[in-house]
Amino acid sequence: QRCLALIKSTKFLNAYITVAEETAMKQAEESEERYKRGQPLGILDGIPIAVKDNFNTVGIETTCASNMLKGYISPYNATVVQKLLDQGAVLLGKTNLDEFAMGSGSTDGVFGPVRNPWSYSKQYKEKSGPKSHPEDEESNWVITGGSSGGSAAAVAAFTCFAALGSDTGGSTRNPAAHCGVVGLKPTYGLISRHGLIPLVNSMDVPGILTRCVDDAAVLLGSLAGHDPKDSTTIQDDFMPFELLNLADVSKLSIGIPKEYHAPGLSSEILALWSKAADLFKNAGAKVVEVSLPHTPYSIVCYHVLCTAEVASNMARFDGLEYGHRSDMKDSTESLYAATRREGFNDVVRGRILSGNYFLLKQNYEKYFVKAQKVRRLIANDFVKVFRSGVDILLTPTTLRDAAPYTEFIQEDNRTRSAQDDILTQAANMAGLPAISVPTALSERGLPVGLQFIGRSFQEKQLLTVAKWFE
Ligand code: GLN
Repeated sequence: QRCLALIKSTKFLNAYITVAEETAMKQAEESEERYKRGQPLGILDGIPIAVKDNFNTVGIETTCASNMLKGYISPYNATVVQKLLDQGAVLLGKTNLDEFAMGSGSTDGVFGPVRNPWSYSKQYKEKSGPKSHPEDEESNWVITGGSSGGSAAAVAAFTCFAALGSDTGGSTRNPAAHCGVVGLKPTYGLISRHGLIPLVNSMDVPGILTRCVDDAAVLLGSLAGHDPKDSTTIQDDFMPFELLNLADVSKLSIGIPKEYHAPGLSSEILALWSKAADLFKNAGAKVVEVSLPHTPYSIVCYHVLCTAEVASNMARFDGLEYGHRSDMKDSTESLYAATRREGFNDVVRGRILSGNYFLLKQNYEKYFVKAQKVRRLIANDFVKVFRSGVDILLTPTTLRDAAPYTEFIQEDNRTRSAQDDILTQAANMAGLPAISVPTALSERGLPVGLQFIGRSFQEKQLLTVAKWFE
């Protein structure tokens, strides 16, 4: 009830697209009954959790923040949603995002932008926020980052205890950093993608947003493992783990990749990054500079691979099978065209066009195949660094703290959202686990996150280090 009340009182954040009040209350009451009767409880029993609106849910709309899927109700639950419910969680509702998770601001969905709860904090207001006129608030509120901005804002505003996001190029870690919460992108294949509406199948992973690293470990333990419905998941069962309260980091080798000193990195974030490296040094860890020479190509490479997969994935939205259908019925072709013109925003349409261009017979080798090769080089850089004895990489999550909305939308969204992923994208190319942990407030009174990137399937080590740092 408290969560639902908080969702109502923070409605202006626009974090939720659908609030499943009735079913949530029912689930909570059932959980209470189980408790009273002394029945065995699931690890998430009674815990209110929110889910990004690109995961399928029975009985609750799944829109991907797009006209194309407004009103769409899936006949099945995404595996991760089913796992949450099976373990007793209370599903509060579906959170806002950029249309089809394309973006890094949560400003582009058809339901409007998400506002960062920190815009209304004492710290931000004192340092950068509206001084005298309350109406200044309209121009001063800052974005959440994205595309899982609704989930990050929902956790940051205490409306839920955890939320699911998705992460293809940084969409869980980026908003986690901007909203001052923990954002975990697990190893590709550790958590099922079945029922997550795809953006880039070969890079998508369900993400976990929580207030602390311990909670992320609990969620990971309840979601990870083989799923017969997703052939890319690991074959083995996953062993849930608990994190030590005081880990020993003195034997660790922490790598600082020099390429992450990317153009546009704010001096403030650079300073926080160095400070974090010093913390590890002082605790006896080895801190070494490493090089990932192909990482600077990850954004252009992503552009080709992402749009190509988008062109193919979006072909299913034809106005016949599900979702929006145009009234234009002159011919089958005009029905397809009108449905897609009305259903998709210009970011989605732009990516479909680019992707089809890269996939043309005369371009396929030149762009798509080449990008796949570059992707392999980017991934191999990580393999080499980890083989050299480095355990974990430490980097910033974002180049700067969250931008005011008015500023963010002035810049060309496509360039901007590409640049914003520069520090997070490569981990998706390589399928590696990565986590963003809040570190400090910026001079403007906004949260800053740092990122740890670990070896494949070494989530336990990654989260142990993240918790030590937290
Ligand atoms: N910002 C990137 C994009 O727009 C990544 C989004 C994501 O991780 N879902 O494609």
